[in-house]
Order: sequence, then structure tokens, then C-alpha cells
Amino acid sequence: MEKVIILGSGCAGYTAAIYTSRANLNPLLLSGLEVSGQLGLTTDVENYPGFPSGVMGPKLMEMMKQQSERFGTRIVYERATEINFRKRPYLIKTDDHEYEAQTVIICTGASPRKLQIPGEHEYSGAAGGAGVTYCATCDGAFYKNVEVIVVGGGDTAMEEALFLTRYASRVFVAHRRDSLRASRIMQERALKHPKIEFIWNSALTEILGNDQKMVTSIKIKNLASGESSERPIAGVFVAIGHVPNTQIFEGQLDLDQNGYIVTNHRQQTNLEGVFASGDAQDHIYRQAVTAAGTGCAAAIEAERYLAALESSN
Ligand code: NDP
Repeated sequence: MEKVIILGSGCAGYTAAIYTSRANLNPLLLSGLEVSGQLGLTTDVENYPGFPSGVMGPKLMEMMKQQSERFGTRIVYERATEINFRKRPYLIKTDDHEYEAQTVIICTGASPRKLQIPGEHEYSGAAGGAGVTYCATCDGAFYKNVEVIVVGGGDTAMEEALFLTRYASRVFVAHRRDSLRASRIMQERALKHPKIEFIWNSALTEILGNDQKMVTSIKIKNLASGESSERPIAGVFVAIGHVPNTQIFEGQLDLDQNGYIVTNHRQQTNLEGVFASGDAQDHIYRQAVTAAGTGCAAAIEAERYLAALESSN
């Protein structure tokens, strides 16, 4: 039986692994399908402390992985397909194995919701392209003095648009309806900003680019009139929500109405010995450094929980 199983190999997972392995708990980390998490899909990371010249996302993740292995973390490249939290020890099945654990740290992350239109994948960092991104905080600084478009009408879209005004010459916001979902204060800030222009009742239908796999324009359809047009653009920021990777825990753990795992400020879930960190439980900050921070907290809590369990036996 494992003392600690960590699910996920993003910033939260590797940080939890560094802390639990340094505490001699010999953790087992199941990488999941998206090895290295969202940072594994990005290029330059300029806001992770300690890297004044920036660092490539995949390189940062490789360093975190090596750091966790240095202290004895065992990493298996498997995905949890079935969980049983109804009995102790907890049971985790993958396609090839079954594992039992006294504690589980869930770091399964969240994935940005996709537009699912032609060109979206091709011109994203994940496919070696440039111009389609899901994080203005991460990538906004690469779009200085060019026109960009944000898709979405929620708080994230407003926040991304406002953030982008620091760099871009003009920020368009395309929303599929004629009213915003965002909170009033965020709406007001975006609506009155001189650099932001709203394109209402509109949906992107295609993203186009050049031979260097860089975005050059979009096709956009007015859903009210049915008219389509093409517009030159350098960057497309998709901000239509995130989907936490928590489906596997449904019915066994407390999730909020959007599927995020509910934790207290000590990263504890409603089940004893089950902790969650990173984007699977955080829909507000969603930063690499906050994921790492909550991964650290979850690891310390797991260590304390195991110590208390041991002293009571
Ligand atoms: P939301 O779910 O609130 O908004 C998603 C937006 O994307 C909606 O406007 C929706 O349109 C649109 N959308 C969804 N699917 C599509 C699609 N396929 N094509 C085009 N548009 C689409 O997500 P957010 O990420 O904005 O926010 C998530 C949560 O985080 C919210 O509770 C929000 O309040 C909170 N948050 C708070 C912040 C703050 O307080 N500073 C900052 C960021 C987020 P429609 O409106 O038509 O459904």
C-alpha cells in the first residue's frame, strides 16, 4: 500500500511530490494523459519567480520532475481510470494496474474550453503555432502594438481584455450574445476602456495563418444577421471558461456547480486523507505559482495527516 499517491504531473503535482518525497513518504505520482500539465503546452513563462529571463514551460516542468525524482518520487505514466474513495485504503485503477493509498493528493488540473473551430489547434502553442492562446497573463506581453481579439463574455474574458490593453494597440472582444455574463464592475471597466471594442452577437468560425504557423486573420460570423467577414488579427485569446479534470471524482467528492473540487484553506476535501490542489480546485487564480503553492500545502497536510494516523495506531 502506498502512503501517498499524487494524481497529475503539472506544477501542483510535482510540487506535492517534491515535498512528500523530501518528507520520506516515497510518493507515487500518476502522470495522467497531459504530462507536465498546461505549462507543458506553453512556450515562454515570464512570471514564474526565480527566472528573471523567463523559462520555457516544458523546461520548467522537466526541472520540477527531476527535482521530485531526486528525493525518491516514483513516476508512472498512467492515467487513473477508476477511483474508489468509499473504502479505506483508497483504490485507484489505471488501464494496467490497481493501487491502494492511505492518502491521495489530487492535482488533475483544468483544461481551457476550446472553440473547436478550424485553425484553433493548428495555430496554438500545443501544435507549435503562435497566435491562439488561452492565457493573457501568460502570453499577453508577446502582443505589443498589434491588434488582438478575446473571445467570451464572462469575467475571465473581461479580465483578459483589460490586461491585454497594456500591450496591444487594440483589443476586440467577440461575444456570442448582446449582453455580457461578466460581473457589473468588470463589464463597466471593459465597456468604457478606450482600447477595447466589442463585437456583439458574433462567433469566430475559422482562424487563419501563414507558413510560419502564425495567426494572421479570423473569420467571424454575425449570428443575428448571418453575415460573415474576415478580419486581420495577430492574436486570438480564447476565454470561454475552463473545464476542471474532475469527472472521475463525481459522486465521491464534493464538487462545486462547475465541477471544481471543494477544499478548505488547508487543501482538505470532504474526505479524510484526500487533498486537492492546483486548477482542479482553483477557478480564480489559475497560475503556475499558485498551483505550486497549493501543491506544497496539500503535501504538508498529507504528511501531518499520516503522522497523526501513525501515532494513533
Ligand atoms: P464563464 O463560464 O463565466 O463565462 C464563459 C463565457 O464564454 C460566457 O460569456 C459564455 O457565453 C462564453 N462561451 C462559452 N462557451 C462558448 C463557446 N463555445 N463559444 C463562444 N463563447 C462561449 O467563465 P469565466 O472563465 O469567465 O469565469 C469562470 C468563473 O470564474 C466565474 O464564476 C467568474 O465570475 C469567475 N472569475 C472571477 C474573476 C474575478 O472576480 N476577478 C476573474 C475571472 C473569473 P454565454 O454568456 O453566452 O454563456
